[in-house]
Amino acid sequence: MIRDPPLLQILYDLHPMDLINLGLVCKKFHEMLYRPSSADIWRTVRDRNEIPDFPSKLRVSEQRFAELVFCETCHLCKESAKSGTTMKRRIIWGMGIAVCEICHWSRLVAMSDLAMPKLTFLLKIMPTTDTPSRSGCEFHQLH
Ligand SMILES: [Zn+2]
Repeated sequence: MIRDPPLLQILYDLHPMDLINLGLVCKKFHEMLYRPSSADIWRTVRDRNEIPDFPSKLRVSEQRFAELVFCETCHLCKESAKSGTTMKRRIIWGMGIAVCEICHWSRLVAMSDLAMPKLTFLLKIMPTTDTPSRSGCEFHQLH
């Protein structure tokens, strides 16, 4: 909980992208803004910027919602959509990630493509360790 009224007033007047950028300034700001008790700050900023309450409907935190919607970075390859480029991001709400078009098509597999015969094949070619899982399941942990 931030107990500094002048700082809170400044934070409330920002845009969600400003909060994200502020969280990147230093570890102290990141910890301050990304702790669960700071969700009120993000909620207030979202409300003041007239952004509907999608986080509660989508069951994501205020912070995660802002990152998914306003950041321009692909969560898989870490590439950023810079202004003037044609890179597009897709938000995959169920996974809580945003990915670029290249990663979407090359690194994600649709659930419908995971029919059992294909899944068995994929499990055979995935990198594994020789350590059996605690449950005694025949599958192994991924690296
Ligand atoms: Zn990517």
